[in-house]
Amino acid sequence: MFFVAKFGGSSLANASQFKKVKEIVLADERRRLIVVSALGKRNKEDSKITDLLYLLHAHARYSVPSDNIFNMIKERYLEVKCELGLNCDIDAEFDEIAKRLTKDAAADYIVSRGEYITAKIMAEYLGFTFVDAQDVIAFGYDGLIDQARTSELIDANFRKYGKIVIPGFYGAYPNGAIKLLSRGGSDITGSLAAKAISASMYENWTDVSGILMADPRIVDSPKRIKQITYSELRELAYMGANVLHEETIFPVQESNIPINILNTNDPKNPGTVITQDCDDKSQIITGIAGKKNFTSFTITKSHFCRKITIIRQILQIFEKYKVNVEHIPSSIDSFSIIVSSDEVEKCIYDLVSDIKKEKEVSDVQITDQIALVAVVGRNMATKAGISGKLFAVIGNNEINIKTIAQGLQELNIIVGVDNKDFEKTIKVIYENFVA
Ligand code: ASP
Repeated sequence: MFFVAKFGGSSLANASQFKKVKEIVLADERRRLIVVSALGKRNKEDSKITDLLYLLHAHARYSVPSDNIFNMIKERYLEVKCELGLNCDIDAEFDEIAKRLTKDAAADYIVSRGEYITAKIMAEYLGFTFVDAQDVIAFGYDGLIDQARTSELIDANFRKYGKIVIPGFYGAYPNGAIKLLSRGGSDITGSLAAKAISASMYENWTDVSGILMADPRIVDSPKRIKQITYSELRELAYMGANVLHEETIFPVQESNIPINILNTNDPKNPGTVITQDCDDKSQIITGIAGKKNFTSFTITKSHFCRKITIIRQILQIFEKYKVNVEHIPSSIDSFSIIVSSDEVEKCIYDLVSDIKKEKEVSDVQITDQIALVAVVGRNMATKAGISGKLFAVIGNNEINIKTIAQGLQELNIIVGVDNKDFEKTIKVIYENFVA
């Protein structure tokens, strides 16, 4: 019955945050495998260490003097070390970085040092063993994580040392060269670690008390989501709810390990628990998320052509321009392809010209400034009247719905509205559905 606890950058911004982390870790004997990000921002104007390290690398690459940035980074670590009264040799770590900071230095190595040094400090502070991610997060030469090997390595170290700290965000190729995960990737390190040791819980400690039912910039003090399924989270995250790195859930989902999103600054708050199934039926909807700026291509077919053929031909054009398709609402004589406006910005004229070349197409109309709002909830399934109520609420507030989509799992209902109605749509849904 062990927990993996991952602490994000804001939980590690300075020495007083480290103290909170120590209290949290030591408060529960089950927290034995700790994953850390690099030091985060101490306030809004501050910089994340990871961003400074990218900057440091860019300076070295273009032979621009970088002493200021280098010292700024080093100072932040020295300050934490001194305030916590630790012995670890920060000077030696930075001497090594300085030695390797040449024009040809690998960005992945330089940037990974943020997590590496944070983990060294944390290990000494907690009295846990430091285990380098370079030795346990195994990438193949295809750039993909070798999950079986990674599990073996983490598990072996965990069994050997009992209480360990692993730096997040990076691993290594078989030849030992450091390879970074994508930004925010420490969440994935934590998930891989939880799977490796068959943890009974993956705690993800951040600076928010769990996931909220709607964006607090739009809805005033939205309620916290107490429980959510992996699938619901995927839907919300895809539609813009920014919580965990989107690949986080895959390793833990396979082993059905719950993720608990918790707040280092409010550790008593139970946060949000993410699991395969949830029994909480207190809310019909679990959350609302959405994004602005979608574009629709409405294609009118000429007579007698078979729909399946023409849809396939048109989709191939979108594939050619590497544009992801979000939805394909259709009627007898026309269908629409909805895509993110960003994705077609550069190729829209070529794309339309290719569509027009198809002989079965009689017309193409473009509508932009569409916002998609997703209402997500496992408790909506098989209940009559939910979508009826949703559309009535939106209509009664004089918002015109341009398009509608609901998957047959009935996990989400997506409505497309004008960009200008985006915030209002989310507000009225929240007000009418959340008790
Ligand atoms: N420090 C890295 C980043 O800022 C990784 C992480 O925090 O998860 O993206």
